[in-house]
Amino acid sequence: SNQLMAGKRGLIMGLANDKSIAWGIAKACADAGAELAFSYMGDAFKKRVVPLAEQLNVDTLIDCDVSDPASLDAAFSEIEEKWGKIDFIVHAIGFSDKNELRGRYVETSKDNFLMTMDISVYSFTAVMQRAEKMMTDGGSALTLTYYGAEQVMPHYNVMGVAKAALEASVKYLAEDLGKDGIRVNAISAGPIKTLAASGIGDFRYILKWNELNSPLRRNVSIEDVGNSALYLLSDLGSGVTGENLHVDAGYHVVGMKAVDAPDI
Ligand code: NAD
Repeated sequence: SNQLMAGKRGLIMGLANDKSIAWGIAKACADAGAELAFSYMGDAFKKRVVPLAEQLNVDTLIDCDVSDPASLDAAFSEIEEKWGKIDFIVHAIGFSDKNELRGRYVETSKDNFLMTMDISVYSFTAVMQRAEKMMTDGGSALTLTYYGAEQVMPHYNVMGVAKAALEASVKYLAEDLGKDGIRVNAISAGPIKTLAASGIGDFRYILKWNELNSPLRRNVSIEDVGNSALYLLSDLGSGVTGENLHVDAGYHVVGMKAVDAPDI
């Protein structure tokens, strides 16, 4: 354990269960001495989130639906009442109708397009509108994205379009909030088997492809993502903002992989 986050307080949004990327980040932050609050969505998740909170001695657990402005307001008032200020925020939230995370992007419906953009893109901006006022000593915010924003990946479809918009919003937020010492970054994580990922068509194939074709020849874990998040959220990342850090075993640099056996 290190003390990189000693004296820092942060809200981790998007905890569903112990497979969640939010959980990997929460563990790394707690291990580094941070004081945490969690938000999750809906009563159905409460029974999974309560024992996780206990494990890290987290006593602020907030039910928050990011598509509802009143729910966001209530969540941030609760944090404000408890802490007054906040040092960091993790936004590990995304959603789309799984029927549109297979087949052809061209068939995306308007309703699902707008819902996906609302929950997966706008919510980060809505969170930062509220967090900005509470980051009185500066701060660090982090969201999660995927390579399907940059290049076409099978079945990622509308979520790829949403992640491209999320990555652009990270840059605009970095510029707006930089004057107040607030840093805004993204981690582009390689594929990880989580609840959200299970909605994506042929996800097992995508996992295997990344394992075989990434420079490190493995997939990443939520602990890998947590360690890199710690760099961006702590003062180790003090000069970094507007960045999209790929934590993907290097997959994003590969154009065509060399054959390991050189005899063809
Ligand atoms: P997850 O299912 O554990 O987390 C997704 C979270 O989003 C859940 O906690 C869910 O409750 C929450 N959520 C959905 N709609 C919400 C709403 N309206 N209000 C509040 N919360 C809402 O899955 P995960 O893979 O850990 O996803 C976290 C983030 O990481 C997402 O942005 C995802 O796109 C991104 N990501 C995942 C992968 C992967 O392969 N798993 C790769 C790159 C990026």
